[in-house]
Amino acid sequence: HVGCSMGIAVFPEHGETLEELLKHADIAMYRAKDSGIEYSVFDSEWSPYSRERLALEAELREAVAEDRLILAYQPVFRVADGSRAGVEALVRWPREGEEVPAAELVSLAEESDLIRSLDRFVLRRALRDFPGIASRADGDLELSVNLSPASLHQRGLTAALQGLLEETGVDPSRVVLEVTESAALRNPGASHRTLRELHEIGIRIAMDDFGSGFASVTYLRNMPFRRLKIDRSLVREIGTSSRGEQLIQGTILLGQSLGMEIVAEGVETEEQLEWLRDRGCDLVQGFLLGRPERSS
Ligand code: C2E
Ligand code: CA
Ligand code: CA
Repeated sequence: HVGCSMGIAVFPEHGETLEELLKHADIAMYRAKDSGIEYSVFDSEWSPYSRERLALEAELREAVAEDRLILAYQPVFRVADGSRAGVEALVRWPREGEEVPAAELVSLAEESDLIRSLDRFVLRRALRDFPGIASRADGDLELSVNLSPASLHQRGLTAALQGLLEETGVDPSRVVLEVTESAALRNPGASHRTLRELHEIGIRIAMDDFGSGFASVTYLRNMPFRRLKIDRSLVREIGTSSRGEQLIQGTILLGQSLGMEIVAEGVETEEQLEWLRDRGCDLVQGFLLGRPERSS
């Protein structure tokens, strides 16, 4: 099924230069796409906010197409011996001398099909960077990459990934793809198929942000998750809420009994680390041990 959306801007009402006309036609096109209609005529009455946002989206689209996004890598550590287990790739958009936060840029991209190209870009860049990062490390490292729900529902993801693994020589067992449970919620059939395929080629899947949304036991049962990441909103409860602590402890037990490794995210204090170590958490990630940094 192929769809098409058209945006229309009229000279001279909507712009007197080619650039302005094209930009407004572009904005109208994303409007049409977002509303699921075939075409849309630019309207100069559109609120400055959404116009700004749509323009920003168009700018982001350009940045993705021109490979101008960059990646930061945050280290992940094994709790048992403090060694570095791997890195998580986090996307950054350098724009007008500042960096647009990942959450903002990802939500902007998720409003359109742009998120798929963004995720593909990150996968490609991360897999190409990885051999260099791994060669500078002492032991074996693994690479974690985030995937949005829309990417998971896209056909051809597994084949594209296989191509990248071949090109870069990265072993699939070194790669962890992180997905949130909302990915599974939106389109269970397609997600399940893709996750199975990825699992079959030896890539590990992590459930990200566990405890931040509506964690469903069904997904833990049906999806091939090998790893569970406890959201930092829960980790923050360590030392402050005994209910929160019990939830984490229960999650560690539940996950481990299902054969999953447990990662605690957003570890910021020694106290949290100590507590997690005592409860047998496998891996930790957080500002206490390492912030996301550009790879040189
Ligand atoms: P996430 O996957 O949960 O990534 C971890 C986020 O927590 C990162 O924010 C990281 O900088 C932050 N963080 C790590 N340790 C700490 C800590 O100790 N304290 C606090 N307060 N924060 C900590 P970042 O890089 O801004 O990313 C935000 C979210 O954007 C990510 O959350 C992920 O959901 C999404 N994201 C980032 N890169 C990508 C990407 O390439 N593709 C997709 N689809 N999503 C991405
Ligand atoms: Ca993540
Ligand atoms: Ca997370």
